[in-house]
Amino acid sequence: MLEPSPTIERLDAQPVNSAKVRQPLYAPRRKIFPKRTQGRFRSFKWLVMAVTLAIYYLTPWLRWHRGPYAPDQAVLVDLANRRFYFFFVEIWPQEFWLVAGLLVMAGFGLFLVTSAVGRAWCGYACPQTVWVDLFLVVERAIEGDRNARIKLDAATWSTHKLVLRITKHAIWLAIAVATGGAWIFYFADAPTLLVDLVSGTAAPVAYLTVLVLTVTTYAFGGLMREQVCTYMCPWPRIQAAMLDEHSLTVTYNDWRGEPRSRHAKKAAAAGKSLGDCVDCNACVAVCPMGIDIRDGQQLECITCALCIDACDGVMDRLGRERGLLSYATLADYNANMAVATAGGTVAPDPSRVRGADGRLRPDLAHVGPRKVVRPRTLVYFAAWSLVGLLLLYGLLSRDRLEVNVLHDRNPQYVGLADGSIRNGYTVKLLNKIPEPRTIVVTLQGLPEAEMSVVGLDQPADRAFAVRVEPDRQKTLKVYVAQPAAAIAGTVQTFRFVVEDKSSFESDSYTANFEAPQP
Ligand code: SF4
Ligand code: SF4
Repeated sequence: MLEPSPTIERLDAQPVNSAKVRQPLYAPRRKIFPKRTQGRFRSFKWLVMAVTLAIYYLTPWLRWHRGPYAPDQAVLVDLANRRFYFFFVEIWPQEFWLVAGLLVMAGFGLFLVTSAVGRAWCGYACPQTVWVDLFLVVERAIEGDRNARIKLDAATWSTHKLVLRITKHAIWLAIAVATGGAWIFYFADAPTLLVDLVSGTAAPVAYLTVLVLTVTTYAFGGLMREQVCTYMCPWPRIQAAMLDEHSLTVTYNDWRGEPRSRHAKKAAAAGKSLGDCVDCNACVAVCPMGIDIRDGQQLECITCALCIDACDGVMDRLGRERGLLSYATLADYNANMAVATAGGTVAPDPSRVRGADGRLRPDLAHVGPRKVVRPRTLVYFAAWSLVGLLLLYGLLSRDRLEVNVLHDRNPQYVGLADGSIRNGYTVKLLNKIPEPRTIVVTLQGLPEAEMSVVGLDQPADRAFAVRVEPDRQKTLKVYVAQPAAAIAGTVQTFRFVVEDKSSFESDSYTANFEAPQP
């Protein structure tokens, strides 16, 4: 006899992606039309934008006199001669640790800024933010503010729309070309390269670089905008790990904003306690990322604070305190929410955060400079400063005259007809100043030894002088020979000492002299 089968419960679940319900892999972009706003953060952003763009476009045109033997461009990446010039600093390939150190400093600086003030880099100084802002200035100047742009976008094609669109895209392309052009000026003498570019005689790689940067600037700044931050940039994901409850982020203070209402008078007449948010959506309309910060912290938020400016304007018009949207820490937010909910025992009541006079209570937590100074930011600052000081020390104490020596390996030594033993060396003299100088190379140790230099018309001796061109390395083939009677083992050490008698700079290299078993 068959056992009765157990009852199996049927769960109420549907596949989110199946043959019947196929989700598209690509979601079309919904256009964002950020509204122009005014306020202290917008003004600060204008300032940062002007300074960063001026630095980018003008730096290659700054001159810095380094004498007749070095380029006079203040900032130059001279790939052909493998040099990097930055005002009074000249970096050789061997000194690339300086650039690596600067990158480490930039990393610590980014950690420091992020832990202190959240994604300030994203909101104010990131090139993507700056160029999108610049492209938006052009767009607003030609097509108008948010409502006019929405209307134009929805309108059918007409001569008027075509003219506006062509003008906008032409200016965007001009900015993109200027951006690509400015980049290559960092890699060659800017005035000369400009003439070459215009006359069509520049290297093909110069035109190719301008083309690539033009296309990327136009696409990222004009067409893709917020999508670059949301989908392409890894920083929003990384920065989440660097924030803690004391980091400043743009915050909707719902402990004073909720319940929101567009009908405050009606609600007040009905005796309802309302928050400060009048649900005007001004904060949403100005957001370049197209989000509503009242939904809480979001990956898309670049903390540009334009929503704070918009909301402050609304609060000013309503005669209420600014700061419904503000830079705040999670710790402060929680403390103020505890006040609004009487320690979490009741639902948030905005009347609890106000005193008898109707003003916000003075004991509410708010941002101050002391919030930024805390152990985590101090550790980042200490690490940043330490790397900076080490770099400065390295920069100020680095040698401008160097010698490097390579011992011949095959053969390691040669026996000469008179019984003496000879070793060969490749000696590299590095003159790192933009002036020619005469370098004296001397043998120190091996008292009976003498050296001869291939190509130098001079009898074997214990010292010789050689001219090294400015900012150049000179490679010499040097033979050191010792009489058999002076050989004191299979390996003897000695030093090549190099000196510039006029500047008293010197360097030395300890080398081995090898000989066969006696
Ligand atoms: S929510 Fe505010 S701070 Fe965040 S991106 Fe939008 S406007 Fe900027
Ligand atoms: S701007 Fe201020 S008042 Fe208006 S919806 Fe945004 S948070 Fe509310």
